[in-house]
Amino acid sequence: MTETFLGMPATAPAGVGNLRGDEPFPVAARRALADAQLRRNLRHATGTIRAKSAAVIGEVPDWPELRAAGRAIKSDTMARLPELLEQLEAAVTAAGGTVHWATDAVEANRIVTDLVRATGADRVMKVKSMATQEIGLNEALEAAGIEPVETDLAELIVQLGRDRPSHILVPAIHRNRAEIREVFLREMPGVDPALTDEPAALAAAARRHLRATFLSTKVAVSGANFAVAETGTLAVVESEGNGRMCLTLPETLITVMGIEKVIPTWDDLGVFLQLLPRASTGERMNPYTSMWTGVTPGDGPQQVHLVLLDNGRSAVLADEVGRQALHCIRCSACLNVCPVYERTGGHAYGSVYPGPIGAVLSPQLTGVEENASLPYASSLCGACFDACPVMIDIPSVLVHLRARHVAEQRAARRTPSAEAVAMAAAAYTMDHPRLYAAAQRAAGLGRIAGRALPPPLNGWTASRDVPAAPPQTFRQWWSERSRS
Ligand code: SF4
Repeated sequence: MTETFLGMPATAPAGVGNLRGDEPFPVAARRALADAQLRRNLRHATGTIRAKSAAVIGEVPDWPELRAAGRAIKSDTMARLPELLEQLEAAVTAAGGTVHWATDAVEANRIVTDLVRATGADRVMKVKSMATQEIGLNEALEAAGIEPVETDLAELIVQLGRDRPSHILVPAIHRNRAEIREVFLREMPGVDPALTDEPAALAAAARRHLRATFLSTKVAVSGANFAVAETGTLAVVESEGNGRMCLTLPETLITVMGIEKVIPTWDDLGVFLQLLPRASTGERMNPYTSMWTGVTPGDGPQQVHLVLLDNGRSAVLADEVGRQALHCIRCSACLNVCPVYERTGGHAYGSVYPGPIGAVLSPQLTGVEENASLPYASSLCGACFDACPVMIDIPSVLVHLRARHVAEQRAARRTPSAEAVAMAAAAYTMDHPRLYAAAQRAAGLGRIAGRALPPPLNGWTASRDVPAAPPQTFRQWWSERSRS
């Protein structure tokens, strides 16, 4: 898909949400690389998760078959996404829930804000959710005078520190425990001034801080890891129990979910509940798996809303190669094995989705031109493909998006670029044997000129040498051999 045509699904709107950075990846990455503390934090954290994950994946003899099953379910889901979403809507509605459809971030933020206002609440508690970060829901709620309180420990650290998340699973991965202690001492109301940086002491301080919120807040906002179309069941997996509190204690529960999170059947959920914890946190199963189907009278939230979010996903679905990015179950395994992510961290990607999956998802959600540097933020080593529990071929999508970027640039230019002129000249030369022989002789002379190209081609040799030309061309060798 390289052309824009009438009726093409819209991409995520600019000016709202967190899919676009302020600067291109190379600029942000250069600054991140200069931060030695950041690199130490990232190396330690990703190395620890990698080792844990490898150990528990090694225990599962049918891991390759599980991955293949995960990929097959996701491919089937994408092939009939409209039908499954309507089935999900019918099932949720029949169970007493209310389904809302949001074209983009603006509409989703408005729906959630209106729902919270209708309850009369001025505060909501939140379960960690990538979708609500994507649309900038916290900013929208604050603008409406509603206080959002993050209850996931890492999200709380990010929120209190007025920071940005830098990892899908561990949003505060760029912070070490001494830095977290400083944030708590500075920002957490009523914190013990003698707080140490022991992980258990930090977790206990967060627990005390959040307990009052859990018991007094009447509205919660969550994301969803999965939604089962046949039953209308939503599922959230997490490790801390904060999600269970948010999903069961309030009177009103509002879930914002990307449309790609639907899966067809209850049995399909079993596949992903095996794949996700081992690939993400390196656990055999998630400590908390919360599932709810509409409203249960007298038990749990009595007002249950589901906001189905597009925000560019239909545009991704329209690209036959790129659509596999919608298979992602947000395990973050690709981040933890990526040599680029391990050195730059997540902020360099600009988007709320960092690492290899962010490099293929964000440009597709926003339109490639608005995140044009991200498909190049990779060495194409393939480690992400090997690690992905649903076998997303991220390197192929990266190459595909680079080709889309080049094609879009070419279509937008009135005059051809220096690269395009050079390529056309090379094609013409290779098509004319005498000219080609002369060029080869010139290349041989080029050895004398050194390893850098003259302008405008010197950009290519700014960070690499021109390969040395061999002392003899194939034609010269062949004619000498024929004479002897
Ligand atoms: S692309 Fe694959 S490895 Fe990366 S976060 Fe998504 S599911 Fe996990």
